[in-house]
Amino acid sequence: MSDVIVVGAGLAGLCCARELADHGLDVLVLERGDAPGGRLRTDEVNGFLLDRGFQVLLTAYPEARRALDYERLGLRPFYAGALVRHHGGFARVADPLRHPLGAARNLRAGPGSLVDKLRVARLRRRLSRASLNEVLEAPQVSMAEALRLEGFSREIVDGFFRPYLGGIFLDPALETSSRLFAYVFKLFAQGEAALPAAGMQAIPRQLAESLPKGAVRLAATVEAVDRGGVTLAGGERLEAGAVVVATDGPEAARLTGAVETPAARATTCMYFSAERSPLGEPILVLDGEGRGPVNDLCVPSDVAPSYAPPGAALISATILGIPPLDDDGLEAVVLEQLRRWFGAQVDGWRRLAVYRIPFALPAQPPAVLALPQRPVRLRDGLFVCGDHRDTASIQGAMVSGRRAAAALRGSDSGPSCAL
Ligand SMILES: Cc1cc2nc3c(=O)[nH]c(=O)nc-3n(C[C@H](O)[C@H](O)[C@H](O)COP(=O)(O)OP(=O)(O)OC[C@H]3O[C@@H](n4cnc5c(N)ncnc54)[C@H](O)[C@@H]3O)c2cc1C
Repeated sequence: MSDVIVVGAGLAGLCCARELADHGLDVLVLERGDAPGGRLRTDEVNGFLLDRGFQVLLTAYPEARRALDYERLGLRPFYAGALVRHHGGFARVADPLRHPLGAARNLRAGPGSLVDKLRVARLRRRLSRASLNEVLEAPQVSMAEALRLEGFSREIVDGFFRPYLGGIFLDPALETSSRLFAYVFKLFAQGEAALPAAGMQAIPRQLAESLPKGAVRLAATVEAVDRGGVTLAGGERLEAGAVVVATDGPEAARLTGAVETPAARATTCMYFSAERSPLGEPILVLDGEGRGPVNDLCVPSDVAPSYAPPGAALISATILGIPPLDDDGLEAVVLEQLRRWFGAQVDGWRRLAVYRIPFALPAQPPAVLALPQRPVRLRDGLFVCGDHRDTASIQGAMVSGRRAAAALRGSDSGPSCAL
């Protein structure tokens, strides 16, 4: 019998387990997959590193800074800005503090007026003065409404904010809470968006390696949870003093019957190999023309060369939602769009993989984020954590794990806010 069983070895479960193990508790993590990581997994295919869906670590995430050894992750940053597809060309949007020249040169280029760009600078200044707590507790509306209230023109909303924020929250309608927009906008300004040299899975791997040997049991699907233990698929019964359900939101709802099932944000990621990068720099490209299907694209091997074997480039194209097309059909429409962007070189690209992710993020509109943090203690001996308890992000998952561990230990020294 263990002191605590944690169901799920995603970031939330791993952070929870680490916190409990650090306080001397005997923890067993049960994971149905073949490796820890949950939604942060990386496949190695012919020398390419394919993250299961494009994602980045924001180095300013407070919990990630606290819990991870960034140096060992070998983090490689993206350019602080983006290339926006606009009127048949590409316009560079740059962070004015980190790339003042790039920003100045493009004051009049790209989507939006000069006034819009001054409004972006004003917003950046205002958010940099607020604390993260203030941002997460501010009155909220949808992101679309917040942009309208800030006075942004339709041109910059559709040409920049929609693909940028829509890509982050997998939400092209911009229905997500304005708190998350402000939160992420602030964190982008404070740090970098980065990829670990060994792929995003290096993050959960590092956390898992810090647990006592044997603490994670793989290929162990929990079928039911009750007071004092769990039952695995196949019938095996495991007992514990307490159980923490650290699965995604829908599975947590099924196992506990005590948390709401969050609506899903879905995404599709298509990878190509190429002889050379169409970009030649570590920058994100956004579809400011709204023609799709690709919302954003990057070349991970331009960010971290280890993502591709020598002499090759890895291209990652993200489509929001899951189009009703098979791989060949999707590739055809994706390449048609990218041929407009990059010309005939795309004819030499080879498709490596397609990832369709029906539940990538829990939807977090204002109604869901009424409480920036949802309760982690369900009843005596039963706790829950995961990104559906906090902000839907790496940060939210990690901090929710520590919060659940603190609640379980009956400690009031755990994080009392999303930070
Ligand atoms: C494509 C994509 C892009 C993203 N982009 C970003 C980004 O750029 N930046 C960012 O901060 N965040 C991003 N995120 C979100 C981030 O990855 C997640 O918020 C975070 O990884 C969630 O961690 P978690 O521990 O809460 O849940 P999960 O990672 O879902 O972990 C839950 C674990 O529980 C296991 N499990 C489930 N049911 C059972 C069961 N019955 N028995 C045993 N085990 C079970 C699962 O296998 C899984 O390992 C993205 C996510 C995706 C998918």
